[in-house]
Amino acid sequence: MENPKIFVHGDSSSKDKVIGEIEDSRKKTWDSILSEDELNLLKEGEIEKDEMMMEVINISNEITNEFIKDLGLEPINVAHESIHLVNNDTYEKITGSSTSAHNNMGHRSIFIRNLNGKNRPPEIIIPEILHEIIHYKHFESQQAFDIDKGEGKIRYSGPFRSGLKVFLNIKKSEVDVGDYEDYFEGLDEAIVSEIEKRVLPRLIEKSELVPKKSFSNEIRSAISNHVNVPVEEISFVTEVGFSPFSYYNQRKVLYYVIDRIEKKYMDLSKDEILLKFFKAHFSGNILEIVRLVEKTFGSGSFRVLGGMSITKESSENVLEKLMTM
Ligand SMILES: [Zn+2]
Repeated sequence: MENPKIFVHGDSSSKDKVIGEIEDSRKKTWDSILSEDELNLLKEGEIEKDEMMMEVINISNEITNEFIKDLGLEPINVAHESIHLVNNDTYEKITGSSTSAHNNMGHRSIFIRNLNGKNRPPEIIIPEILHEIIHYKHFESQQAFDIDKGEGKIRYSGPFRSGLKVFLNIKKSEVDVGDYEDYFEGLDEAIVSEIEKRVLPRLIEKSELVPKKSFSNEIRSAISNHVNVPVEEISFVTEVGFSPFSYYNQRKVLYYVIDRIEKKYMDLSKDEILLKFFKAHFSGNILEIVRLVEKTFGSGSFRVLGGMSITKESSENVLEKLMTM
């Protein structure tokens, strides 16, 4: 298994030590991190991947690496052992999340909620695996500092950036990883979903086992007319219904930003501008997109974009603000 590079912020005197600690903790398998109860839960709740799921993971790994190489960046591999298909109970207890798929940054693992639940046909897992692998391969940096709670210093290390998402203001009085404010989560998801939308057809085309009919243009166009959703926003169609591509509200804000940048910079096409956002997601180098946004919308506008979370309301508020800038 390969890991993204680790950049440590803060506490510069012991950077090497912190990097060593983070690398060590990443080498640990789930077996050594989980408590006995949690381990039993994983053993009970893990669903064996069938041939199709193994193929989906392998192709998703391949095509995301091709995408990264086309951006001129170093590819990262994800092993199928790092991806766990688990039942609902195990999913909720291990991830503590109500979502359907989860990329656990600290332990370099992806969890996908099971296939057996209501409205969870096998097709739904395919774009989810791809989406989480795009998260998995993002740029990551860590922050580290010492906390003194009166009983000597305790080293805290945790995420600082993942993709475009930034973790700020971790409460230094508590060693609690969840205690932070995050920014740019909406933009991060917009970019991941946009990449997912672009590479999913390649996955379907390469696969020999995925039911191609569910993803065909014919069936997607037919349902599009019925449900009044643009055909390009429909991911797949099954007997239980259709699934749209994720984070449409956040992507609408991204599309608006790209539109405005294109109008300002006549020599750049929409695709060329989008590629710069994709590149920032994998490389961590955001200077170019900050400059484009701020020169188009004015000073402080990149921070406005950072305020977009994953709710619909927040994306609408941010869009409204940007339209006045
Ligand atoms: Zn996501």
